[in-house]
Amino acid sequence: MEKTIIKDKLNRPLRDLRISVIDRCNFRCQYCMPADQFGDDFEFLPKSALLTYEEIERLAKIFVHLGVEKIRLTGGEPLLRRDLPLLVEKLSHIEGLQDIALTTNGVLLPKVASKLKSAGLKRVNVSLDTLNDELFGEINGRGVGTKPVLEGIEAAKEAGLGVKINMVVKKGLNDSEIIPMADFCKKNGLELRFIEYMDVGSSNGWKMDDVISKKEIYQMLKEHYQLESRDPAYYGEVAKLYHYNDTDVNVGFISSVSESFCSSCTRSRLSANGQIFTCLFNGNGHDIRNFMRNGATDEELRDRITSIWSGRNDRYSDERTEETAKTRKKIEMSYIGG
Ligand code: SF4
Repeated sequence: MEKTIIKDKLNRPLRDLRISVIDRCNFRCQYCMPADQFGDDFEFLPKSALLTYEEIERLAKIFVHLGVEKIRLTGGEPLLRRDLPLLVEKLSHIEGLQDIALTTNGVLLPKVASKLKSAGLKRVNVSLDTLNDELFGEINGRGVGTKPVLEGIEAAKEAGLGVKINMVVKKGLNDSEIIPMADFCKKNGLELRFIEYMDVGSSNGWKMDDVISKKEIYQMLKEHYQLESRDPAYYGEVAKLYHYNDTDVNVGFISSVSESFCSSCTRSRLSANGQIFTCLFNGNGHDIRNFMRNGATDEELRDRITSIWSGRNDRYSDERTEETAKTRKKIEMSYIGG
């Protein structure tokens, strides 16, 4: 299939698509779905509002035609969506799509890792912010210890999936876990990515003072390990990577607060209810679900997506201040994943 490369107003091509398949999660993490705001009576999307697998497949084909090479499935917690391997299998048959990955809290991986692998999934990113059971239970808002997540990581490895670990670092909360997590991941051959704490959505009460920068974490690591910088593997790679020079294990940093990378951001996001977002911090979604359900042809869908991407000029992380964090209308992360 001949691809059409489309570019936004800042000349950035469309390369990546993150698809949220569900807005529910079995955790209530402080960073994205705090328990006090997502209580038992919180109304999540009804099933009819979610894009079906057939709708996701149809849109994914069009996105790939417009330049997308990688798709990442997110949530909420994507493994809560029934029969997810069916969707992975549908996506894996799309000509021109090079990579399918998944971001998960890992708890359900023992049940589905091998099915996901057989369906065509290549990689998983598992969120784990500490190895301390008590602290982990506090962060996930459900009192769940690390055991089910560690079992999930093992299951993914055994199934032959690539595994990376995402650790969001918040000052005063889990910064004491930086070295234990680095030790654990290095020993187990897992690539760890330190993610600077961000003002996603409007429910996590973010303050600049809570951020530990990439530079600070790097200095801590340098006291324990010898690190060598790695070149980016492709244009727009989000993580700045290093490797421990006595191993081939990488460690990375996602420094969207201290060293923003908007100028090479090639990601579009599709929410569970079929809205396209052109930035993690842009609260204005563009409906595509109803347009599709009202009978739009593939060509009309292609034109709509092209027009949305062509009008994009988002560069929120370049412009972030304490003020924008409080005042800018943003989409909750449970709708579009990280
Ligand atoms: S702030 Fe928006 S434009 Fe900038 S890197 Fe993040 S998602 Fe991309």
